[in-house]
Amino acid sequence: MVCRSWKAVAVLAILAGPVAAQGSPAVAAPAPLDRLTAALLGATPLEQNLHELTDKIGGRATGSSANVRAVDWALAQFRAAGVKAQKESFQMPNRWLERSARAVVKGEGVEFAPRIAAMPFSVATPASGVTAALVDVGRGTKDDFARVGANAKGAYVLVEQDELKDIEGLFKEYAETAEIEPRAFAAGVAGVVYVGSRANSLLYRHNVAIGAKNTRPMMVMERDAGLRALRLLRGGTALSLTAMLDLDTGGAYESWNVVGEIPGTTKADEIVLIGAHLDSWDLGDGALDNGANAVMLIDIARQFQRLGIRPARTIRFVMWNGEEQGMEGSFGYTRSHLAELEKHVMATSFDIGCGRVQGFFTGARPELVPLVTKAIAPVAGLGPFKQTDAPLVGTDNFDFMLHGVANIVADQESASYGPNYHARSDTYEKCDTRVLRQNAVVTAALVYGFATMPDALPRQTRAQIDAIMKSTDLEAQMKSMGVWDGWAAGTRGRRP
Ligand SMILES: [Zn+2]
Repeated sequence: MVCRSWKAVAVLAILAGPVAAQGSPAVAAPAPLDRLTAALLGATPLEQNLHELTDKIGGRATGSSANVRAVDWALAQFRAAGVKAQKESFQMPNRWLERSARAVVKGEGVEFAPRIAAMPFSVATPASGVTAALVDVGRGTKDDFARVGANAKGAYVLVEQDELKDIEGLFKEYAETAEIEPRAFAAGVAGVVYVGSRANSLLYRHNVAIGAKNTRPMMVMERDAGLRALRLLRGGTALSLTAMLDLDTGGAYESWNVVGEIPGTTKADEIVLIGAHLDSWDLGDGALDNGANAVMLIDIARQFQRLGIRPARTIRFVMWNGEEQGMEGSFGYTRSHLAELEKHVMATSFDIGCGRVQGFFTGARPELVPLVTKAIAPVAGLGPFKQTDAPLVGTDNFDFMLHGVANIVADQESASYGPNYHARSDTYEKCDTRVLRQNAVVTAALVYGFATMPDALPRQTRAQIDAIMKSTDLEAQMKSMGVWDGWAAGTRGRRP
């Protein structure tokens, strides 16, 4: 990666401007944002925190003991910094964790044991596994399923996928699998097996789109072995697959978000919320997704507190839990803080690793764009920034969007995010913490700007939120993420 440290110098040069005001006999104290910037680019425990969260605690799927340790650790970080903090309970609807996943492929003169990963919301198998024919269903298109016809019934279908290189590829993969699943289920398959989209046999977790309602074994097979199976099938060798999925599944249980706060002064009841999820999937250590942004958030709160910077509005720093399993922590927050949502001026989510912040998604709310642009203007040296006024589903801004709260998602350069997404390779060293520190500066400017600006956007009505659904691809995104039903039924989001 190209060294970007010159940009830090550029920011400090900007800082020098107002301090050395021309003709001023006394040197003015630096503005709060300048002090925050200098502090965040200086010596802070950011790297140490990321090391503790990813190397010591490691992967921390909600429901695991590592996740509980991560909650206690995050709370302790806030408190050690003197930031007022608490953990807030919410209910996870379903337990889902993988204990182990194994597979054996057999055919005439062929036997091998590919590595697999169970997909979240897959069902378990008996210890001896579930054995069925393995059928090549191409890319799982309508035509592919028509070609395979009745052979898909009672079989595992093996779906070919492109190699994933970046975030665009990831969105495409999510959209495609959400279409493939219903076709496979309609064909009466025993289970779905995706040829892994990552090179070098890298395993990863990719949620089943249908979510907890799923009734079949679902898995990702390491790419190299998946391609081998496809070549055998296409060469005329019939294959069977035995999948042994040992899963820890169950009903609802309690989990916690961790909430820190810098209380406001003159508008303390108005809240600017900045969130990043603390949970991760378990194959990797959850550095890019999303330990980096969780520790960035702690670092910003720490510096606000240390420097005694108290804006007019309250800044709430929230480490969400249960994000990977359906944004459950932020959903829980909108339930327990329902009466307070009217006073939420803005909610922002950071969830795209350590790539440079290149702008923000502003949720199809044009009046929000100039406010974001103005808030980050003081740190323009870290740009260029470009706002994208589109709604985004798939991270913790979502339930705020459904409640009409102005919501923002950081748009970050892909950097190493895509190929390591939910994978064993999501580890500490994939994060360029120099870039993360610069993102902290941009983030501090964003929240400071919203916590001090004179006006705030009102909460939208259900009709206004509905209008966004109709004018954008929001409904399609929600369906492909399996979160449409709650909104349609009136159990999630703002009531009509
Ligand atoms: Zn994430």
